[in-house]
Amino acid sequence: MAVTIQNWKRDLSYSAHSLVRADSVNHIVSIVKDTERYPSPVRVKGSHHSTTRCIEANGGTVIDVSGLDRILEIDADALTICMQAGVRHIDAARALEKKGLQFYVNVEIGNLTVGSGACGGTKDASFISDRITEYGQVASYCIAMKVVQADGSIVEISEQDSEMMSMMRSSYGLLGILVEVTYRVKPLRAMAVRHQAYSVHAFVERLDELLAGQQSMMLYLFPFLDRVVVEYRYDSSKPVRSGSWQWRLRNYVWKTLSPGFARVVGQAIPWAGLRHRIYNGWNRLTMKVMQLLLRDCNSSPADQIIRYPETAGFASYTFSIWAFPRASYGQALLDYFEFCRNYHRANGYRCDLLNVGYSIAADRQSQFSYSRRGPVLTLDPVATGANGWPEFLDAYNEFCHQHQGTPLFNQTPGITPAQVQAAFAAEIPAFLELRERLDPEQRFYTPWFRQLLEQN
Ligand SMILES: Cc1cc2nc3c(=O)[nH]c(=O)nc-3n(C[C@H](O)[C@H](O)[C@H](O)COP(=O)(O)OP(=O)(O)OC[C@H]3O[C@@H](n4cnc5c(N)ncnc54)[C@H](O)[C@@H]3O)c2cc1C
Repeated sequence: MAVTIQNWKRDLSYSAHSLVRADSVNHIVSIVKDTERYPSPVRVKGSHHSTTRCIEANGGTVIDVSGLDRILEIDADALTICMQAGVRHIDAARALEKKGLQFYVNVEIGNLTVGSGACGGTKDASFISDRITEYGQVASYCIAMKVVQADGSIVEISEQDSEMMSMMRSSYGLLGILVEVTYRVKPLRAMAVRHQAYSVHAFVERLDELLAGQQSMMLYLFPFLDRVVVEYRYDSSKPVRSGSWQWRLRNYVWKTLSPGFARVVGQAIPWAGLRHRIYNGWNRLTMKVMQLLLRDCNSSPADQIIRYPETAGFASYTFSIWAFPRASYGQALLDYFEFCRNYHRANGYRCDLLNVGYSIAADRQSQFSYSRRGPVLTLDPVATGANGWPEFLDAYNEFCHQHQGTPLFNQTPGITPAQVQAAFAAEIPAFLELRERLDPEQRFYTPWFRQLLEQN
């Protein structure tokens, strides 16, 4: 009896043979070993927030790890946290906060399971603390993991085996099922935030100078207004005040108000020209609110993290992402704004939400890191996913491919084998060789990954 499973946004579905909620590590071992009752591919379901077919297990077995949600140890001396794979990022961040600790990378998505964070692509603007630029990918701070392998054996891997860790940190379940993970953490410090708007040309001209400012930079992009708003975050010497109203306002507008408004406008206003003007008006208002109200001097870093509803409702958004070398980002950004306007003129489609971007440090901690070759900034379209979004993504993917971008397997929908091969030609062979050695019977391999990694 097949079971249909959807991702969080419910814009992807697949048909699995079975969905099993794991209640222990031994349970996972028994599922992996029992090839008759639990057909391949065996895949893990975190909170299924991924926007790509990386989650698919057509005809196979899906293991829901949400029951493995125990924080096993927080070691304030060693600055580590050890957790079962199904723990949610937000729950772990709040537990750390209570002990005077914090994650290095506080991605906005609280529903991220820590097992997925340790073996898949993530992004947040790299934080800069005491003049040290930190990584912007969650997995880079995973220093140890316990993994159920294809033959059902359990192996423990740590950062001492740096090559293996690098493979595991971008393995997406293809090299085994992560059941426990240990992350390195740091002492809690208050965080300041402010927002500053620039014309896109001024931003591009001043990009090097702004990046040299030693503050974390997330970008809010407005292709139809020629504007960029930078969210600057940095350490503050003040005492931490958790639950800042500024972040609650930001999170509410981002998670609910803006997508809800865009959906209502999209459904209620049949005239494209008027819709376009309303979106622009809303974006102008958003820019003003950001600059005027969204500033704080002593937030808790965990306040940035959002707990989304279990499945997407009426007011929800989706997105994509490609990363670009820092040196060519300015031109890529200008070209992207022009691409968005041209696409709108030619096809009548535009993103109904603002777009974003992140400045992220060079990072060789994982095999498929999108910043392996140097620091990057990203271009992330965001939309409610209304009619026209999938076609826009195809054109956007081609645009990014032409601009030497790098995609993420779990966050860049619609990527083609040619685009993946161009981005990861140097990294794929070693990964495939290891995958074949660890899983010759293809217990964890799926046609989607095979096509992207092997089709030239
Ligand atoms: C509204 C929204 C906001 C988002 N915001 C951000 C953001 O700010 N920053 C960011 O980086 N990302 C963001 N994302 C993307 C999201 O973080 C990633 O897609 C992430 O992989 C989702 O984790 P998950 O727990 O839902 O895993 P899933 O989507 O369920 O799984 C992802 C992949 O990892 C595999 N996998 C999961 N757990 C394990 C495990 N324990 N062992 C082996 N394999 C495993 C799965 O089989 C699958 O291939 C957002 C997504 C949405 C929908």
